[in-house]
Amino acid sequence: MKNNCVFCAIEAGEIPSERYYEDERMIIIKDIEPKAKLHYLAIPKRHYKLLDEMTEADREDLGKILQTIAAEAEKLGLGGGYRLVINQGDDAGQTVFHLHIHILGGQKMEFEQL
Ligand code: 5GP
Ligand code: ZN
Repeated sequence: MKNNCVFCAIEAGEIPSERYYEDERMIIIKDIEPKAKLHYLAIPKRHYKLLDEMTEADREDLGKILQTIAAEAEKLGLGGGYRLVINQGDDAGQTVFHLHIHILGGQKMEFEQL
């Protein structure tokens, strides 16, 4: 598997995925275990594990990824709104250590009780 990383392997086409968007810096795919009626993942093509591994160059990349999510939202069925989530590290429950942004919607989103 490319880089021994599920998302690098998906990006390389080694693992199949439902791909909704692609450009030179990112892909948007459907999450395999949806936690909302609509659940996508925006994944940068460049592999970095955690937010705290971001470099100066990644700052621009991430800004453009957010802008692309907003531009694609309507086409993804998210015209009514959506929630973006980044799980950073163990306490947040991060399971795939290739930075990604969860895009959740298609329903009214609640915050879980603590
Ligand atoms: P994390 O918990 O690291 O923030 O999120 C990882 C997400 O990746 C989970 O929501 C999980 O369902 C999703 N995921 C893990 N493996 C695959 C896969 O092979 N394909 C797709 N489409 N999603 C995956
Ligand atoms: Zn990776």
